[in-house]
Amino acid sequence: HAKRAGGSAAQFFEPTMNQSAFERLVLENELRDAVAQDQLVVFYQPKVLMTDGACAGAEALVRWQHPTAGLLSPGAFIEAAEECGLIGEIGDWVLRAACREAAAWRDRGLEIPVAVNVSAMQFERDGFSDSVLEALAAANLPPHLLELELTESIAMENPERVIEQVQPLRDRGVNFAIDDFGTGHSSLAYLTRMPFDVFKIDQSFVRDMTTDHHARIVVETILAMAKSLKLETVAEGVETPEQHQMLRAQGATLAQGFLFARPMPAGDFVAFATESHTDRAVGE
Ligand code: C2E
Ligand code: MG
Ligand code: MG
Ligand code: MG
Repeated sequence: HAKRAGGSAAQFFEPTMNQSAFERLVLENELRDAVAQDQLVVFYQPKVLMTDGACAGAEALVRWQHPTAGLLSPGAFIEAAEECGLIGEIGDWVLRAACREAAAWRDRGLEIPVAVNVSAMQFERDGFSDSVLEALAAANLPPHLLELELTESIAMENPERVIEQVQPLRDRGVNFAIDDFGTGHSSLAYLTRMPFDVFKIDQSFVRDMTTDHHARIVVETILAMAKSLKLETVAEGVETPEQHQMLRAQGATLAQGFLFARPMPAGDFVAFATESHTDRAVGE
């Protein structure tokens, strides 16, 4: 402690706190460049039919091709983007890129809807629904080929916002999914009133369902609820044949997970979708 009193450097730097604040500052600056310099890329992960594996959809997942650190996952930068106010710009960019891509698939005869994640701040911004309509128009994509994924907590925390922003888009045919379903604290009464088309069963339940009785009951309950409400379900994070078998037996219709395909660049996705459709046609 005698050292500390004498050394100004030791007093100036509180190692952990200042280091992470500094790193965050660097990250935010780099992220600004990333947007300006086209370093963001969108990967697409197939959603497939439980029954025959045919590709029935795609989720757009952003990646950052960082000049030195390599390909970064959204977990490494989405939160920073929200905090420094770049999420609106990034979200719009992903939305536009995904709409253009789905329109290109359609031109090749692949009518595959694309799903885009919407962050809380993006959803709360004024003009959210207008920016979606602009992206559709710019890409010349029919609204029914776009799905927007909102997490259960976003939907829960902004009930008025949901009605105001979701309904007009939904009236035009845009579909809405609740992402990470089952992890929030929504009341049943509330959920049955929300204007959604799809429940995406959170991957934590899928991961545990073959070993944990409670996780299996949660999945069963979500599937039964979706059936009564006539909503579609997607089981996320399907990694093993056992999970696939169990979900299929329970009547789940769509799966997304590493067992079928990982998120991939757009070009690979077109090949995957084309092949999955061809395989099916041959099998029939
Ligand atoms: P999410 O929307 O729940 O996306 C699914 C995540 O699960 C993706 O991670 C995907 O790669 C991963 N995943 C898919 N199948 C499996 C599997 O079988 N096993 C495991 N362990 N993981 C699987 P990713 O791409 O790292 O994205 C993480 C989260 O980042 C997303 O979760 C979403 O909340 C957010 N995100 C991604 N792209 C965007 C975006 O463009 N905008 C916003 N606002 N958020 C995004
Ligand atoms: Mg999602
Ligand atoms: Mg619809
Ligand atoms: Mg999810």
